[in-house]
Amino acid sequence: MKLDFKLQHHAETARTAQLTIGRQTLATPSLIIPAPALAVHDLAPAEVKRSQIKGLSIDESIVSQNPGTETVRDLGGLHRFMAWDGLVIAKPSDFRHLPLVKKNHLTKDGVRFHDVKTGAVRLMTPQTVIESQTELQPDIMLMLSQTPSYYAPYDYVEKAVAINSTWAAAAVQKLTADSPALFGVMQGAGFAQLRKQSIDALSKIDFSGYVIGGLSDIDNDEEFDRILKLSVDLLPADKVRMVVDVQSSAQLVSALKNGIDLIETSLPTHWGRYGKALTAQGLLPIKKARFAADPQPLAEDCHCPVCEQYSRAYLRHLLHMDDSVGPRLISQHNLWYLRQLVSQARLAIMHDQPITAIFENLI
Ligand SMILES: [Zn+2]
Repeated sequence: MKLDFKLQHHAETARTAQLTIGRQTLATPSLIIPAPALAVHDLAPAEVKRSQIKGLSIDESIVSQNPGTETVRDLGGLHRFMAWDGLVIAKPSDFRHLPLVKKNHLTKDGVRFHDVKTGAVRLMTPQTVIESQTELQPDIMLMLSQTPSYYAPYDYVEKAVAINSTWAAAAVQKLTADSPALFGVMQGAGFAQLRKQSIDALSKIDFSGYVIGGLSDIDNDEEFDRILKLSVDLLPADKVRMVVDVQSSAQLVSALKNGIDLIETSLPTHWGRYGKALTAQGLLPIKKARFAADPQPLAEDCHCPVCEQYSRAYLRHLLHMDDSVGPRLISQHNLWYLRQLVSQARLAIMHDQPITAIFENLI
């Protein structure tokens, strides 16, 4: 599928752009919200859409087992199956987290793992992942990637980068005229030299964009920022850049500052599940006694459907009743609010303004 990516403005290393793919047009930087098994932490796609989120990511390894690639294909592909008309990005699981995947199940050809539906042992290869994702019909798909632990020794990461490069070449061989746009996944853990080797190999292939992979194990935000900066410098400027599994507000700000275009994070729903509401003052723990009779909306400057209808006191009551509606409503507000903060950051970049102030109570 043809992907059109137009850079618009740079402010130091931050940037804005417009991404058009099929009928979708996305102003970037933009949030991508994970819906691994086709729902976003108890939220239906329509509820996510109400928060004006434009992009979801799904997990090919889960969906190909449940409900199965054929089922989704026969029912019209991911967009129709989920009733979601925004952007969909499919990605294979980080196979280290698949059931029964052990070190010795990883080969140069792919990964052997246990199929939770049939009990059979399956072989996931760079080629099978492309075939399955092509049938699911997302807008963008990610190659199967060899992700070592971020803190693995140099020699181990070097071997993983070599396998990753082989997998990239194998993946493109399975592209057809019907295939979604394909992103390459850069690896190399925390080693500058290996990050360079990885992108040198991937650059020989005409990927539509790049994921800076292997960041989810990083245990501090300074290291995340260091390796992101270093990796971005190696990437071609005219291609889409994505990071997945952003786990803190500081990492989100780092991604925005370093010119990442697509930022995948489950932070809004993660906070929502713990009853924390995003506001200009930071995260408010709505379960606290001080909100018991508070008639205000979650955030007074918010115009989301939740803030227009419900008080902090009502939402606190739902949390205390352990009713799942409470976290769901707070998650919807958080999705709206964080999406708005990213839109403000986009505007700031367009006007050469710093973005840190927008997130100052969150980091
Ligand atoms: Zn709100």
